[in-house]
Amino acid sequence: MADTADVLVIGGGIAGLSAAAAIAPHARVMVLEGEAQIGFHSSGRSATMLHYALGDALIRALTLASRPFFDSPPDGFSDVPLGRRMTVLIHAREEERAALDALDADISRFAAIDRLDAAGVHALCPLLKPDTLYGIADRNGIRLDPHAMLQGFARRLRGSGGELRTGARVAKMERRGASWSLTTEAGDSISAPVVVNAAGAWADAIARLAGVRPIGLQPKRRTIITFDAPPGTDLDGLPFAKTVGDELYFAPESGRLFACPMDEVPSDPCDAQPDEYEMALAAQRMEERTIVKVERIHSRWAGLRSFAPDKHPAVGFAPDAEGFFWLAGQGGAGLQTSPAMSAIAASLVLGTPWPVAGVREEELSPARFFR
Ligand SMILES: Cc1cc2nc3c(=O)[nH]c(=O)nc-3n(C[C@H](O)[C@H](O)[C@H](O)COP(=O)(O)OP(=O)(O)OC[C@H]3O[C@@H](n4cnc5c(N)ncnc54)[C@H](O)[C@@H]3O)c2cc1C
Repeated sequence: MADTADVLVIGGGIAGLSAAAAIAPHARVMVLEGEAQIGFHSSGRSATMLHYALGDALIRALTLASRPFFDSPPDGFSDVPLGRRMTVLIHAREEERAALDALDADISRFAAIDRLDAAGVHALCPLLKPDTLYGIADRNGIRLDPHAMLQGFARRLRGSGGELRTGARVAKMERRGASWSLTTEAGDSISAPVVVNAAGAWADAIARLAGVRPIGLQPKRRTIITFDAPPGTDLDGLPFAKTVGDELYFAPESGRLFACPMDEVPSDPCDAQPDEYEMALAAQRMEERTIVKVERIHSRWAGLRSFAPDKHPAVGFAPDAEGFFWLAGQGGAGLQTSPAMSAIAASLVLGTPWPVAGVREEELSPARFFR
C-alpha cells in the first residue's frame, strides 16, 4: 500500500527542512531527499554568514525578520548554538567611496552600522592593503552553523511526528484527483494533497516532472578556497570582510582563511565542482586586496545559488496546479532567510495569518511570473 501524508516536501536542504519543521506540528509531513544525507548541495556549501550586504531591501527585510530566531532559538535548538557573532566589514578604496555611501544608506535601515576611516578599517582587519580607505562595520553579524540548523530543523520535524527519508529521489509525479502521487527512483509511492517543491537548483526540473510551468530559475555556481593566513594572524579577531562591489569576500575558516571571488557562473543543476579559473581568481583577488600570499590552496568547494528572474525567492502555491507549492529561488541568502521563509511557507500551506511584517505576499508569490 502506498504511503500518505498531508504535505510532502521535496528537498532536504535548509529550505525544505525548515518549512517541514514549521508545518509538522499542524499536519502529517514527510520530507523526501534524493541524496543519502541532508544538506549535501547548496545548504552544505555556503559561506555561512548572516549579513545585510546580501541582496536588496526584500532580502534584508527577510533577514531582519529571521534575526530573532538566531538570537533566541526556539526549543529543540537550544543545545547547540546556531552561530557566533562575527563583525561584517564592507571596505572600499577611494574610487569606491560613493558605492560604500549608497550601501551604508541601504543597510542602515536594517542594522546598526559604524562608519570607519582608514585607521578603523586596518584596526579591524590588518590584512587589507593600505589603499583600503573606508569601511562600514556591522558588529552584529552572525557566522552561522548550517549543520546545527539542519539538524535542529530535522529534530523538530521528527519531534512533531514528521518523517525524513533520505536516498529518496523523486522520479515521477502526477496529480490523481485530490492528491499528488510521487514515485521515487527506488519505486516507493507516496501521495499527499500538497507537495512543497524545495528542490533548490532542481526546483524547475521538479515542476517539469509534475507538468507545472517552471518559473525560470537559474542556478549559478560560486567557488570558495581555503589557505593559510600569514603567520601570527589573529584569526579569531578577523571580521567577514567584503569589497563593496561583488568582487571578493574572505573570513577566518577552521584555523585558516577562506576567500570567494563572488563568481556567478550559470550552471545546470548538478553536484557543483570548483573550476580552476575561479579558484585562481579567488587567489588573485585576495592578493590584490590584501597582504596575504596564497602559496597553496588547502581546500576548495563550489555550490549553486539559484535565482528566479527578479532575484527574489518564490514562495506560494503555483497558480496553474492545485496543491503544488513553490519554495525556491533563495539565491545567496537561503540560510539567513530560512526562519522567515519557512514561517511564510507554513502560513500559506496551512492558511494561517501572514507572519512577517515588512514583506508582502505579492512580492514573493510565484504568481508574479505568470502575469
Ligand atoms: C558558495 C556559496 C555561498 C553562500 N553563502 C551564503 C551565506 O553566507 N548566507 C546565506 O544565507 N546563504 C548563502 N548561500 C546560499 C544558500 O546556501 C542557499 O540559498 C540555500 O542553501 C538553498 O537551500 P535549498 O534548501 O533551497 O537548496 P539545497 O540545499 O540545494 O537543497 C535542495 C535539495 O533538494 C534535493 N533534491 C533535488 N531534486 C530532488 C528530487 N528529485 N528528489 C528528492 N530530492 C531532491 C537535493 O538533493 C538537495 O539536497 C551560499 C551559497 C553558496 C553556493
